[in-house]
Amino acid sequence: MSQENPAIRLHDFHGGLVLAPHKAVSLEVPLASAGLAERVYVPIGQHQGQAGELLVAPGDRVLAGQALTASDDDFEVPAHAPCSGTVAGLCERPASHPPGSRRRCIEILADGRDEWVAPIPLSDWAQRRPAEIVDHLHAMGLVGLGGAMFPTAAKLRGPWGAIHTLILNGAECEPWISCDETLMRSRPEAVIRGGRILAAAVAAERVIIALEDDMEGLAATLGKAVAEQDSGPAMAIVEVPAVYPQGGERQLIETLTGLQVPSNGLPQDIGLLCHNVATAAAACDAVEHGRPLTERIVTVTGPGVQRPCNLRAAVGTPIAHLIAAAGGYREEVTRLVLGGPMSGTALASDEVIVTKGSHCVLALTDRELAPGPEPMPCINCGDCVAACPASLMPQLLFRALAADRHEQARELSLLECIECGCCADVCPSHIPLVDYYRHGKARLRLSDLDHRRAALARRRFEAREQRLTRQQAERKARRRARAERLQKTEVAQDEIQAAIARAKAKKRTGD
Ligand code: SF4
Ligand code: SF4
Repeated sequence: MSQENPAIRLHDFHGGLVLAPHKAVSLEVPLASAGLAERVYVPIGQHQGQAGELLVAPGDRVLAGQALTASDDDFEVPAHAPCSGTVAGLCERPASHPPGSRRRCIEILADGRDEWVAPIPLSDWAQRRPAEIVDHLHAMGLVGLGGAMFPTAAKLRGPWGAIHTLILNGAECEPWISCDETLMRSRPEAVIRGGRILAAAVAAERVIIALEDDMEGLAATLGKAVAEQDSGPAMAIVEVPAVYPQGGERQLIETLTGLQVPSNGLPQDIGLLCHNVATAAAACDAVEHGRPLTERIVTVTGPGVQRPCNLRAAVGTPIAHLIAAAGGYREEVTRLVLGGPMSGTALASDEVIVTKGSHCVLALTDRELAPGPEPMPCINCGDCVAACPASLMPQLLFRALAADRHEQARELSLLECIECGCCADVCPSHIPLVDYYRHGKARLRLSDLDHRRAALARRRFEAREQRLTRQQAERKARRRARAERLQKTEVAQDEIQAAIARAKAKKRTGD
């Protein structure tokens, strides 16, 4: 397949920061396997959305790749066993998100044999209908691997118009995280072939693969993989400036196209679809090799680990196991973060497990966490406004939330905040702005959920009333029809009797 090389004119997005990358430390060593932990804990609802129907019970022997849950709903993504072993039972394990929460998991005692179910590739996928490809990706447990874990099938199949362009997001912009770059360097052909598959799933005409301009030599590596393809949509590899948060979906789309995704809208509304490069590679594994999504690459890094690196880790592996595979802690480690330093979540313990969305474990020490100055009042300097890539007014959001005026914060587009942390990073008053936004968004979502539940209950009540009325009317109509039939039958009987009487009379006369 030819590599399209159109002059894609790059655009700037508002705000953003140039940050020290700190990636070389984990990129220096080759990708390795974390190995299997003795026990893995596969979250039943590890993706965004509901859990599917449970297919296994305690004591069952399972093979790697075996479905543990099932569902036909695009938002309920099946979970699969990452190893062979025995189901020890259901348990609750600490989860990274929301902080301090626990998730229901299937505990599997690994047997170390690494026995797999027979793979089920989607043969002749290029000749299939898009819906067949989407169904297969759903059955293989695909979710977005960029961190959000949004069900891939639900992102591919929706009530929008034609998608003309698929963007593969390899702009891994947050400091320290290097799992996507590692993937693109180690499996460029899987990323490109997966891009073709995802494009076929929405009938997109072209694919843009975006990476940052400081990823040395990677554009050429991917270009070679594109050149090896003999068919498929036009593909362009584009280097974008290494500015944080360039990898944010909306920011990347604006950089590549100059278009802004409508507020409260989706990229699909303007004919674009954005997937992480790791999701593309997982699509290739699922479709061409019939392998469900049971592992991912995790960057284990920071001044607090002995050997920063990128590891292939099974979903359900405790983070303590990854730390051990990276040589263990350095003595002075004081905080673990899931994700990067700007948008990551502090972990309460290393018992938290790897999910499909775990891209980085960052171990920090006292040096990075030296207590900063106490927060001071906002001085209205506007630095946060200049830095905000979502073009929000962070200081007004802060004031509204500090005063518990959540609906006012909603009107100020709080829900558009991507929690990138740029505003807090530049704030001279050291206000922990993102903490306010996270808390405020959680409050709004809870209140929305309550409203949705109330609306659902009302709709159900109204539907029941309508059903009862309809059934009553149907019963009446049936009774009426029966009475009419009966009446007609009686009339017919009378006519028959009369005919018989006439015939008898005629016979008598004839006698
Ligand atoms: S940067 Fe900090 S002090 Fe300046 S306006 Fe924003 S919140 Fe206020
Ligand atoms: S955290 Fe939210 S408000 Fe602050 S800069 Fe990022 S998008 Fe803007």
